Amino acid sequence: KGWEQRVLSSASPRSSTGSTVLVTGAAGFIGSHVSAALRNRGDGVVGLDNFNNYYDVSLKHDRRAMLESSGVFIVDGDINDQVLLKKLFSIVQFTHVMHLAAQAGVRYAMKNPASYIDSNLSGFVNLLEVCKEAKPQPAIIWASSSSVYGLNSKVPFSETDRTDQPASLYAATKKAGEEIAHSYNHIYGLSITGLRFFTVYGPWGRPDMAYFFFTKDILQGNSIRIFEGGKGGVVARDFTYIDDIVKGCLAALDTAEKSTGSGGKKMRPAQLRVYNLGNTSPVEVGSLVSILERLLKVKARRVATPMPRNGDVMYTHANISLAEKELGYKPTTDLRSGLEKFVKWYLTYYNQSTVN
Ligand code: NAD
Repeated sequence: KGWEQRVLSSASPRSSTGSTVLVTGAAGFIGSHVSAALRNRGDGVVGLDNFNNYYDVSLKHDRRAMLESSGVFIVDGDINDQVLLKKLFSIVQFTHVMHLAAQAGVRYAMKNPASYIDSNLSGFVNLLEVCKEAKPQPAIIWASSSSVYGLNSKVPFSETDRTDQPASLYAATKKAGEEIAHSYNHIYGLSITGLRFFTVYGPWGRPDMAYFFFTKDILQGNSIRIFEGGKGGVVARDFTYIDDIVKGCLAALDTAEKSTGSGGKKMRPAQLRVYNLGNTSPVEVGSLVSILERLLKVKARRVATPMPRNGDVMYTHANISLAEKELGYKPTTDLRSGLEKFVKWYLTYYNQSTVN
């Protein structure tokens, strides 16, 4: 009973125009920021997360504590749990599902391929099955990834570019997710928007990502490996600051049309969209390290290493004109100022001071 009550109170919007959103992966990096932003503007938000131990679980619990202090309740559960999902949809009429739960990371697939199938394929289908039965059917906004562009060498990446050469199992599951979305849109009239995020970073970030563990290793004096491509090729990422991504997510939610529930036969077909959300300004990994060195006031011990074949791609660069045009998306944070905010958070969170 107490549990249902907390779900209900978390789900109620603070204004009459507010949406009611189920955020999966709400204890994750992007999910916690999106949940906070939705709550701040008055939407009803219920989180769902299985608190898995892919990385430091205490970070997830701290994000949860932060959200709960602003009135967002996170249900501890798995997107594969159909009974739980049905129960949630019986308590709350969600207008939108912001689906951010996934097995993220590229390299972990070499150790644990099953977790990508469980969360990114089975879990996604399970969620769509419940959404398709829900009345009303919610519009779904979900995280795809820039990794779908894989070994495509034509940059910047546009939504219409080829996505048939995934470099990792992670990328393959995101690409498959886009095909699955297509089928649920076609058959059941679900409105589904996929967002291809490009290397998102910022406060409360993910410890498995380079900018995060470089910061730790620089502070601890450990050497850091910087991958280099062969034949003078550079490794670069279109690093995108979390606040810009959050704005893109909210804009996608606000422009998502309602599901038609008709498979598009009787009415207009339901919306099916895919957008790049990037920064349009790739930065070499070596330059990322230089920025961190300046912010931390510590010299890094760099070790140049040839790029292993581990699922990473050499280069990412988003063309965002579609998101600009249809969502009004406009990233405003450059890597230096974004990393400054990250480092400030990191030093406070881990209670370390810079070496002067
Ligand atoms: P994250 O790992 O911090 O967040 C994902 C959350 O989902 C975690 O808290 C995890 O516990 C939860 N989760 C995983 N499997 C689950 C399951 N089966 N049931 C319930 N909860 C589950 O990752 P993030 O960086 O916040 O990524 C959010 C989404 O964005 C993911 O879909 C990810 O693939 C995608 N994405 C992220 C980036 C990036 O740079 N961070 C880039 C492209 C795409």
